[in-house]
Amino acid sequence: MDNDLANPPVMHAPVLHAPTLHRGASPDPRKNLVGLSREALIAEMADVGEAPFRARQLWHWIYHRGATDFAVMTTLSKGFRERLAASYVVRRPEVSRALASIDGTRKWLLRFPDGQEVETVHIPEEDRGTLCVSSQVGCTLTCKFCHTGTQRLVRNLEPAEIVGQVMVARDALGEWPSPAEDRQLTNIVLMGMGEPLYNYDAVATAMRIVMDGEGLSISKRKITLSTSGVVPAIARCGSELGVNLAISLHAVTDELRDVLVPLNKKYPIAELLAACRDYPGSSNARRITFEYVMLKGVNDSPAEARALVALLRGIPAKVNLIPFNPWPGAPYECSTREAIKQFSDIVFEAGYSSPVRTPRGQDIMAACGQLKSDSIKQRRSELLKSTEAAVAPS
Ligand code: SAH
Ligand code: SF4
Repeated sequence: MDNDLANPPVMHAPVLHAPTLHRGASPDPRKNLVGLSREALIAEMADVGEAPFRARQLWHWIYHRGATDFAVMTTLSKGFRERLAASYVVRRPEVSRALASIDGTRKWLLRFPDGQEVETVHIPEEDRGTLCVSSQVGCTLTCKFCHTGTQRLVRNLEPAEIVGQVMVARDALGEWPSPAEDRQLTNIVLMGMGEPLYNYDAVATAMRIVMDGEGLSISKRKITLSTSGVVPAIARCGSELGVNLAISLHAVTDELRDVLVPLNKKYPIAELLAACRDYPGSSNARRITFEYVMLKGVNDSPAEARALVALLRGIPAKVNLIPFNPWPGAPYECSTREAIKQFSDIVFEAGYSSPVRTPRGQDIMAACGQLKSDSIKQRRSELLKSTEAAVAPS
């Protein structure tokens, strides 16, 4: 199966500037084993006097079987299970809201112990299912069309919080033990909230766990990392992780990209495209995806489509046109259907695949940020009883 991004979620819609209200109980002092690399898990077991093979057994229970309770880990002695339970937990993020769309899209708003929240979206398609994963709470970058970039609160997610998104989805989809085939969760896109290459270490640890063949076992060929263009981290991402790359290009001149994606002032288009030309592992069979948000009268002319094609010459590329997803107060509008079609045709005729991303799960506010925004609004006005119960999966 390829990694065509024709239908991943339309992400990034309204998120309010408001701290998340914390209603948590007192924190559990036990250490979470989720999110530790294999090496760290072995070291953790060594600390409590256990041999490395114990770590391997635990890995199997946690990531292949999906166990959350040491009591069910029957290949471990009872005494060891009890000792584990005294010091450790296998914890998922708390599901703060769960919604299911009539088109099958599912969305989870996840809350961490400090009260911060992110979103994860599952988009089923005929031959695959894609999970859109967040890498940060908010984003330090300030792309002008993106509402996540206007959020005040920003922090990096930890590996456990990134892997935890995949595990929550697996729980909800009933995909334990990790199925060898006919999975509903086949692909991962790091296209949720945040800039993954500004949280590289945690993302790398999390993706190594996700790719491990004795656990969640999602191949690097099915994982796509989207970046706004953090050039120095791109080569590492390719050589160390080998995942597919998506670039949020959105403009064909530095003048416009400086405005839309201000990181461009630091890493201009020529440097970004040079990093793409050198991206380890890219080929005609494994193309780099260039994301291009369609903004009416801003970047959507036929001349810009032709300039885009010229820029991409020599790069194994495909283009993903994203209709702009508006949010209150946004300074842009979405291009017309005709403009998008014309743009897409020019790119396609030049030999690049140029699918237009279809919005999914609009009835459950599946565009990233909307649910969180809505949730904050509800809490503010103390409308805690929502209609979601009617559509939420059990
Ligand atoms: N920070 C990373 C990954 C998350 S954004 C990045 O920027 O690539 C995932 C994609 O959604 C990016 O291409 C981003 O530019 C795009 N996006 C953000 N806000 C959007 C909006 N309001 N409408 C459509 N696409 C948007
Ligand atoms: Fe939004 Fe990505 Fe830009 Fe951050 S880098 S503001 S998440 S588009």
